[in-house]
Amino acid sequence: MQINTRAGVAATTRDTAIKWIKRCLREITRKDYELPVDYATARADIVVTLKSAGHRSSACAKGISIDLTAFNTGRTALIEYPAFAKDPVIGSRETLSPESVLAATIAHEISHFVQYRYGPDTRWLCKRYRKPHGEGFQDIYRILRARVINPHFSLT
Ligand SMILES: [Zn+2]
Repeated sequence: MQINTRAGVAATTRDTAIKWIKRCLREITRKDYELPVDYATARADIVVTLKSAGHRSSACAKGISIDLTAFNTGRTALIEYPAFAKDPVIGSRETLSPESVLAATIAHEISHFVQYRYGPDTRWLCKRYRKPHGEGFQDIYRILRARVINPHFSLT
């Protein structure tokens, strides 16, 4: 995992972000999900940029960029994409811990990375991975929210 940490990101914040990135990658590379890579390969593939610049978080086939401003200012609302904001599993949440909001943001961006990087070579994704917040993306994000992120909502 290549990690680029920009100025203004504390070591403890960086460690928290990396913890959730690893948890997401470990889950989605389980054999059950039939991705063309294992956890070690996915970890080697992803480039992670951590910053606190007030930008949006983003992702592409190369990796993810996570802006930690929301975490640093203690944001407790998770605002999801309008098309699935009301979904009980992958939708928005109003009162979470800042770490839970960060964890969900990371899961969202990891889902984009997985769709673009591995979607073309994954049987259940190859026909529907292209649309940025479409079916393929939502299927990946649903796995990560249900199995990795949401169980921690009341704990962190
Ligand atoms: Zn997105």
